[in-house]
Formats: sequence, C-alpha cells, structure tokens
Amino acid sequence: MMKYLFGPVPSRRYGRSLGVDLAVPKTCTLSCRFCQLGPTPHTTVTRTAIPDIDAVWAELREWLAQGNTADYITASGSGEPTLHLHFGDLLRRVRDETDCRSLLLSNGSLFFLPEVRRDACVADVVKVSLHAWDQASFETVNRPHPSLRFQAILDGYRAFRETFTGRLDVEVFLIPGVNDRDDQAGKIAALTASFAPDSVTLNTSVRPPADSSITPCSQERLEALLPLFGPHAHLGGKEPQNVTMTYSQEALVGLVERHPVSLSSLAATFEKTEDELRALLQPLLERGDIRLFPAVGRLFVGGGYAARNK
Ligand code: SF4
Repeated sequence: MMKYLFGPVPSRRYGRSLGVDLAVPKTCTLSCRFCQLGPTPHTTVTRTAIPDIDAVWAELREWLAQGNTADYITASGSGEPTLHLHFGDLLRRVRDETDCRSLLLSNGSLFFLPEVRRDACVADVVKVSLHAWDQASFETVNRPHPSLRFQAILDGYRAFRETFTGRLDVEVFLIPGVNDRDDQAGKIAALTASFAPDSVTLNTSVRPPADSSITPCSQERLEALLPLFGPHAHLGGKEPQNVTMTYSQEALVGLVERHPVSLSSLAATFEKTEDELRALLQPLLERGDIRLFPAVGRLFVGGGYAARNK
C-alpha cells in the first residue's frame, strides 16, 4: 500500500492525476466549512519538513519505475501542501526527472510569503481558491488561522501572477446564504479578475462538508452567477465522470483514501452498475478498509482518513 501517493484520481480538468500527500492528516491553515476531510483539529501556519521529502520522492520514483503513468503529479492531499517546506523540491524533481506535468492544489493562504510564491512558480499548473471578499467573510467561510490576513493573501495572488508563466486556475466555492448573493459573488468575481487567472471554476457542495448545516447551491443559481466571473469561468458541477479506470481493490481504495467519492461516480469511473459495484465493495467493507455513508442526499464511499473522520 502506498504511503504518500494516492490515485491516480480521475479529474474532469486534469485527466489522470496522481496525488502526492505532503500533509500529515489533517494539517491545514484553514478549517473551511465545506471541507470534505472534516474540521481541522488545529489550524497552523507553521511550515515543516514532515513527511520526509526524500521518502516521498522514493515512493514516486518507484511508482514510475513500475511503468505507471499519470497526466499530472499533483501536490495535494490531507491538508495544505504549501505548509511543507520542501514542496518546491518535489515540483522541481517532477519537472527535471519525469515526463509528467505538475499541479499544485493549494488554498493559497500562504501566498503572501515570497518563498511560497517562488516555489509554486515551478509547477506547470497552480490552482488556488477565493471564496470571500474581505476579512470577515474569509473568517466565516474558511475559519482561518488567526494570523492570516485576507488582503495579504490577495496581494500575494497578484504578485504571483506577475511572475508565474504557467496556468493559474482559481476555485470559488459558493455556499447558499453565506457568499452566493449577487453582490457577494460580484465582489469575489471582481477580486478574482484583479489577478487575471486563466480559468475560474465555480463549485458547490457535492461531497460531505465539515459543517453539515451547509447545503449545495442549485444548478440554476450557479448558472445565474457564472457570467459575473467572465468568459473563462465554468461550473465544476458534479464529480468527474469522463475518466474511466479498470476496477481493482487497490484502485478503489486509492481513489477514496483521501477524499470520499459518491457511489454513483465510482460506478461510472469503473464502468459498473451501482449494484455490481456494491457487490465488489463487500469484501472491502467487511475488512473495514472502506465504509459507505450518506451525505448531501447521496451515498458516499470513504476510506482511510476520510472514513475514520466521518
Ligand atoms: S478545504 Fe482544503 S483548505 Fe479548506 S480546510 Fe479542507 S484541506 Fe484545508
């Protein structure tokens, strides 16, 4: 069983993405209300060298040596990858020693640090997030570490855009009654435009959120707000179903290890009916490797960290 790698995960935008988990579960600067990993026990801004980056790289090199491949090697996982002091080293090794592209999935909260921006510049694609328009809304949606300042993060995004030559994507997560009014979304859209991302993805809760009181935005509401974000905006919508994989227990566990996935999405990924997939899941359920649980009106499969924290 892989310790630091998970997937490859099928992604609507990034194809087959091999996740590299650089965070000790769950280490994050934020405790977002919509987080699918559950609440953050203690938010932190202290960057560390754990896990050992050489051990991470050794596992990745072995995976590639076995003939495996992915469209992207993605720094992400059970928390915020830029909390790792050496995430840039991983990105450099992917660039210099593999044929894969690199993707950094970050909440962006440490982009006020020049050293984080410098290392993030090594990635082929960087995806950051913006769900708020001022300090108060940032605290409501993202429940950040007390030291984090919304304006400094935004300034960091603008400085990053000036030097980063790769693709910069932004995710905006919309929560009914919290940040989805026209004026609220309009302010987020204007701030997003101020650092000129290559694309904006509007998302809402399609997976079990940390705060069970939040609900998803309707498709109609998302479509109504989309034009505010300009021509490069699109709806993230449902979970990706355009990448298929051959079923194996290891592939299934790899997919749900860090993030729960709906049963229907997994069935589509493995080209099975839901009944066929349920039968295949039975031995994994009996061993306790995964669990099934209802959330946001659907049935989800979780494993590892996701299962233990539901
Ligand atoms: S959604 Fe991402 S940034 Fe927010 S708490 Fe979860 S891991 Fe951290």
